[in-house]
Amino acid sequence: MNTAILEAGEAEPPDNGFASRENGQDPEEPPSPALSPSTFRLRSAPRYEPEPLRAFLRRHFPGATSADWRDWHWQLANRITTLEGAGRLLALSDAEKNAIGLAKSSLPLAVTPYYARLLDPADPGQALRRMVLPSCWEAVRAPGEADDPLGEDHDSPVPGLVHRYPNWVLFLVTDFCSTYCRYCTRSRGMGGQGHIETLRKRWELGLEYIRRTPQIQDVLLSGGDPLTMPEEALDWLLTRLRAIPHVEIVRIGSKVPAVLPMRVTPSLTKMLKKHHPLWISLHFAHPDELTEDTRKACARLADAGIPLGSQTVLLSGVNDDAAVMGRLFQGLLSFRVRPYYLYQCDPISGSAHFRTPTSHGVEILRALRGRLTGYAMPTFVIDAPGGGGKIPLAPDYTRGYAGADLMLRNYAGDLYRYPDPSGATEARLDMHNAKGAA
Ligand code: SF4
Repeated sequence: MNTAILEAGEAEPPDNGFASRENGQDPEEPPSPALSPSTFRLRSAPRYEPEPLRAFLRRHFPGATSADWRDWHWQLANRITTLEGAGRLLALSDAEKNAIGLAKSSLPLAVTPYYARLLDPADPGQALRRMVLPSCWEAVRAPGEADDPLGEDHDSPVPGLVHRYPNWVLFLVTDFCSTYCRYCTRSRGMGGQGHIETLRKRWELGLEYIRRTPQIQDVLLSGGDPLTMPEEALDWLLTRLRAIPHVEIVRIGSKVPAVLPMRVTPSLTKMLKKHHPLWISLHFAHPDELTEDTRKACARLADAGIPLGSQTVLLSGVNDDAAVMGRLFQGLLSFRVRPYYLYQCDPISGSAHFRTPTSHGVEILRALRGRLTGYAMPTFVIDAPGGGGKIPLAPDYTRGYAGADLMLRNYAGDLYRYPDPSGATEARLDMHNAKGAA
């Protein structure tokens, strides 16, 4: 008898296929892979240990001091943007050398010295390195790929603003990031220099559109990375948005705490604090990004009262593994960041080498359910190509009805029944209809 799904003294349910295993396991699906709780400790797996900072500076940036290192302007001025620069830090494979040459004509190469220090000089397959160094595969356009796969340009009433959902807009306020992710959905508009005077014309148009569109309650500032903008410029924008009565919430999307954590200065958080309610959506892709510097940057933002969420893109060979994802999500929680979206990688041109079957995302969440607290479990979504918006995909834990009871499979593969009020109503109706027919 299936003790997992029967109350004491209850009659055994009709043979519906759910009670066919003595141990209460769902006969249709194997249990999730064994993952012990220690799997998710941040330092539970071997990882590349960056060179001590002093030695790294002496070797690669002679003359620079640790005070320079902590200055985000110095970090921006010393980004790795050329084949020669990358070659001085890393033993480049032939494929990487060729790809960096190609990258000049599309999404540029740019990596902050901070993030470059986390890259393994000897391993082109290292997850962090794959995310920021160009690959030859970027030149290959696979079926279904496009430069603007989400059709954002069609939903853009003014340049730099996407209005797809009724009550919120995406405001692309800059074309600059300190470090470029090779899988960036908006790579088509990236790689500018973030020139304020050029961008200000775009901001005025966007602000004017938001002012005259009263259904907009929520504005997401993105780009590019808004936290790379000068403080005065971001303050200028936030002040104007806050002055629009129907804008209730402002959100900022940023990868700065992962790639340029020294940018999160007390002065920045003091300015941001003036503009509550303000939310920040961070972007993390791998647990090796969760360094002590990043923890401090997140703590500063959280201490300023800003709720922090994280978005992660599922990437082949980078994080398409339940143990890696578990370490990332658990680590983010300990950094006071709530993982809230896991994205299927968008089919941008040249992204086939990063994209996994969608079933991988579902299986990763299935493997993590019951092993991580619910706060660490994001929603897996596909941003539908052509402008359909985000569509969630989730493991299915239902196994139909046994009479009026909903049959459920838990994270361990055991079956349970729930006396579903709506199911009971349907069963009563069926009985009523059957009587009526007789
Ligand atoms: S930080 Fe965001 S906007 Fe910038 S390159 Fe990465 S994914 Fe694109």
